[in-house]
Amino acid sequence: MEAFPGKEGLTILRRLLAYAEKVFQFSGTVVAGVVDRRPQPRIPTSVVLKSVAALFWARMGSLNALELTAHSRFFRRWLGQSVCSADSVGRVSALMDADGLRQGIHHIYDQLKRNKALPDHQGIAIAVLDGHESHASYLRHCPGCLERTIHGKDGRADRTQFYHRQVTVMLLPGARPHCEPVRLLLDHEPQRAEEGEVATVLRLLERVIGSYPRAFDLVLADALYGTAPFFNFLLARGKHALVVLKDERRNLYQDAAGLFAHVLPQEGVFRSGKCLWWDFPDLRSWPQVKTSVRVIRSLETYSVRRQLCATSAKGREGSMCVTA
Ligand SMILES: [Zn+2]
Repeated sequence: MEAFPGKEGLTILRRLLAYAEKVFQFSGTVVAGVVDRRPQPRIPTSVVLKSVAALFWARMGSLNALELTAHSRFFRRWLGQSVCSADSVGRVSALMDADGLRQGIHHIYDQLKRNKALPDHQGIAIAVLDGHESHASYLRHCPGCLERTIHGKDGRADRTQFYHRQVTVMLLPGARPHCEPVRLLLDHEPQRAEEGEVATVLRLLERVIGSYPRAFDLVLADALYGTAPFFNFLLARGKHALVVLKDERRNLYQDAAGLFAHVLPQEGVFRSGKCLWWDFPDLRSWPQVKTSVRVIRSLETYSVRRQLCATSAKGREGSMCVTA
């Protein structure tokens, strides 16, 4: 039973399950809505889905770790049978219908909203976009793989690496009094071969805004997505965007950088570090974006504790954000 929770962990897991059933009707609504594409399924989809949920909740490292727990009383009681083999769990999960899973997440969102567990963050509802890579390999690949060339070091030949990349959108609501804030993953979209990351993100946002038209007002994203099509897409749908501005070649960056010398910053404190903030609310140096943009620069001074000699040094970190 390697990596399966001990007695104390099982008590917490059981409490979590009871909560999920009571508040989100986990088995009856979330799990029951998911089907898979097997023509004559022998193992019910619900058994696989619930096993995988327990795998994540118990933070087991792999499907094999899950298989090792197959005959535990916990699973027999909850699933009504033993956990199936790692191969079966993998095969059935790959055939699961994504729309059913999305409806399950939407149901969880509706319940959280009804229970007022998703308050705005200083009056704004925020979502964040994030790109993740997985399954990098030089040997194994599938039709959905992206490819890149990794240049060999010390005279070794270049190699083709296969990988998968996904973009996720997550809600970042504020915290209720005396509670940790909820983090709810709304949806996820794989990047297709021959497609840039912005195209993937627009496809994802189109679907998410269609399903959750009022779930967020502002989208936070990496510098990677700081392009005019991304800004214009969100503006056209009544949303705001906030991205880190990194491209020093861009006119907007140069214009903003040129203004810093002439404008006095505001002093502030963030995470016990002293900050200098500059704010330029109405810049029109990005003509491809269909409105003026606001650029904020933050210069942060913080203490660094050196490990060998116990003295402190000061570090500085600067960042620029653009918002429309
Ligand atoms: Zn692949």
